[in-house]
Amino acid sequence: MPKKFKRYTITSALPYANGPIHIGHLAGVYVPADIYARYLRMKGEDVLFIGGSDEHGVPITIKAREEGVTPQEIVDRYHKQIKKSFEEFGISFDVYSRTSAPIHHETASEFFLNLYKKGDFIEKTNQQYYDKENQQFLADRYITGVCPHCSYEKAYGDQCENCGTSLSPLELKNPKSALSGNVPVLKETKHWYLPLDQYEEWLNDWIVKGHKDDWKVNVYGQVKAWVDQGLKPRAVTRDLNWGVHVPLEDAEGKVLYVWFDAPIGYISAAKEWSKKTGNDWKPYWKDEDSKLVHFIGKDNIVFHCIIFPAMLKAEGSYILPDNVPANEFLNLENDKISTSRNWAVWLHEYLKDFPEKQDVLRYVLTANAPETKDNNFTWKDFQARNNNELLAIFGNLVNRTLVLTHKYFDGVVPAISQYDDVAKKTLEELKTYPDKISNSLDRYRFREALSELMNLARLGNKYLTDMEPWKLIKTDEEKVKTVLNVSLQIVANLAVLSEPFLPFTAKKLQNMLGMTPPKWADAGNAEILKSGQTINKPELLFARIEDAEVEAQIQRLLDTKKENKKMITVNPAKEEIAFDDFMKMDIRTGTILEAEKVPKTKKLLKLKIDTGIDQRTVVSGIAEYYEPENIIGKKVSILVNLAPRKLRGIESQGMILMAEDTDGKLCFVSPTEDINDGSEVN
Ligand SMILES: [Zn+2]
Repeated sequence: MPKKFKRYTITSALPYANGPIHIGHLAGVYVPADIYARYLRMKGEDVLFIGGSDEHGVPITIKAREEGVTPQEIVDRYHKQIKKSFEEFGISFDVYSRTSAPIHHETASEFFLNLYKKGDFIEKTNQQYYDKENQQFLADRYITGVCPHCSYEKAYGDQCENCGTSLSPLELKNPKSALSGNVPVLKETKHWYLPLDQYEEWLNDWIVKGHKDDWKVNVYGQVKAWVDQGLKPRAVTRDLNWGVHVPLEDAEGKVLYVWFDAPIGYISAAKEWSKKTGNDWKPYWKDEDSKLVHFIGKDNIVFHCIIFPAMLKAEGSYILPDNVPANEFLNLENDKISTSRNWAVWLHEYLKDFPEKQDVLRYVLTANAPETKDNNFTWKDFQARNNNELLAIFGNLVNRTLVLTHKYFDGVVPAISQYDDVAKKTLEELKTYPDKISNSLDRYRFREALSELMNLARLGNKYLTDMEPWKLIKTDEEKVKTVLNVSLQIVANLAVLSEPFLPFTAKKLQNMLGMTPPKWADAGNAEILKSGQTINKPELLFARIEDAEVEAQIQRLLDTKKENKKMITVNPAKEEIAFDDFMKMDIRTGTILEAEKVPKTKKLLKLKIDTGIDQRTVVSGIAEYYEPENIIGKKVSILVNLAPRKLRGIESQGMILMAEDTDGKLCFVSPTEDINDGSEVN
C-alpha cells in the first residue's frame, strides 16, 4: 500500500532570471507540475505549489556586464516577465518568489550557519586566480585559456567546450582574465566544502536501493551512475560579489554558490507564502506526513537527487523528496532549443500570437511530453493536434451534445425513462475513467493520463454517432432523451476530468453546463447533471487553427535560421604543410561496434571501433549530437596512428574525423558508400 500523505509540497525548478520562458521549460517542468497540483487540489488534498526565479550566479553578472547595467536590473526585468507569463498561462503557483528577496537571503544564510555550527563543512584554503586590475577573484567562467587535453584555445576555467572535459582553472595553459584580458595572478583564498563523499553510503541506501522501483528509469539511472562513480567534496562558497553573502566574519567578498542557495529558495518561498497567508510553512517542509515532489528537467537531476537531499539530510530537520519525476528535453522542429540562437517558442510571444489558446499549448506539450526520452515540437503537429484532436474529438462532442439538447429539449437535461443496453454499457465504461486517469497521474505519467481523457471524449463521440439521435428524433423521442442524457453526462465528466490539463476549457465548459466548481470525486458519476436542469447555450471551446497561422510561425523560425547563418563565420585556413606531413596521417574507414556515454560528462562517448586492423577504444566528444544507440553500425573515418591519450581515465586510441561548424555543431565525415573497414583515406 502506498503511504497516505497529509499534505503535498510541490516544487518546480526555479527558472534562471536571465531570459524568458520557452516551451522546453514548460514541457519539462511547469505543465506537468501544474497538472499534478491542480489534480491534487481537486481531490481535496492540501497542496503547496512553489515556484520562483533563480537570480544569482555568474551568467547574470556576465549579462549585466555586457549590457552595462547592474545584475539587479537584469533579474528585475526577467523575473517580472517570467512571473507574468506564468500567470497568463495558468500555472497555478501558490507562491512565486525570487532568490534576491530578503527572506531568501535570511533563509539561506541561516541554513549555511546551521551546517557551519554543526561542523558539517570542510574548510580549505587554496590558490585561486585573481585579477589585480579589477581587484577581484575570478569565477571559473571568467578565465579562459588553452585546454590541456585537446589544446582548444578558448576553454573556460570550469570546462572545455571542445572536448567536454571538466577542468579546474589551474589546469588551463596561458590563462587570461575575461574582465581585463590580463594574465591573472594566484592568490590564497579560503572556502567551505560540503563533503558529499560522506553521504555516499546513505544515498546508496536511500535512492539506489530504496527508490529502485518508484523513481523514473531516466532519473534513477543518472543518480546511480553518479553515486557509483564516487562523490567528492563540493565548494559551497565562492569569491563573487553577487549572491547571498557568506555570514561569517572572515568571508568578505564571498557568496554562497548558486547550487547551494537556489534550492533553499523553495523553502524561502514557502516562508513568503506563510507571511502572506498566515498559514504555517513548517509542516510542508518538516512533517514526515508531507509528500515532497520536485519537478525538474534532466539537467537538474544531480542537484535535486544528490546534492540538495544531502544538504537537507545534513541540516536534519527537513523531509526528503518522495519523488523527482524529471523530464528529458523537448526539441523544436528537430533542433535543440537554444536561447543564444533564438531557437525557441517563447511563452510571452505565444500568448500574444495565440490569445485565449493557453490550453492548446498545454495540450500539445502534454501529449508530446518528453517523459522518457527527448521529444519534438513542430508547428504542424501543433496545428494537427488542435484541429484533429481538441476540435474534432473533444470540441465536437461538446458542441453536438449541447446543440441537440437545445434543439430538441430547449436546453433542459432530458430524463431517462429506461436505460437500454448500449446506454448501460457506455455508462459503465464512463465510470472507469477517473481511476484510469488517477492511476496515471499518481505515477507521473501525464501523457498517458491525457490520452485516457481523450478516450473518454472518443467514447462519447462514438456513442452519439452510433445512436444517430438526429434520425431517431423522428421516430423515438424517448430514446433520444436517453441518448442526450448519457452524452451530457459524458460531457459533464469531461468538464471535471479535463480541469488539471485544460483549466481554461474546463471552466468554460462548467459554466456552459451550469456546474459549480467540481471535485475530482464528482467524476465517474452518471448523474452529474440532474434531469430538468437547464444548460446554457454552447460557445466555441476550440477554433480551427489555419495554415496561415502556423506558416507565419514556421516562417519566423526560418528567418531565425537565416539570421543565424549570416552570423556564421568560417575560420581562416591553417598554415601550409608538406605532402609528406599529410601522408604521415594514417586514416582508415571503420565501423562503430559499441557506444556508451562516459559518466559525468556531457559530451563524451566511449566507442569501440572496428578499424579493419583491430578493434579499439576511442573517446569522442559527440554525445550532445548523437545518442549511443543510434550510431552503432555507423561507418566512420578514423585517424589510427594518433598517439593514445587518456580522457577521463579512459585510453583513447585514435580519433574519429568529425566536421565542426563555428557553432560547435558536429557531424561525421563518413564514407558515402559501403567500403571495407581498414580502407585507407588519402
Ligand atoms: Zn579540450
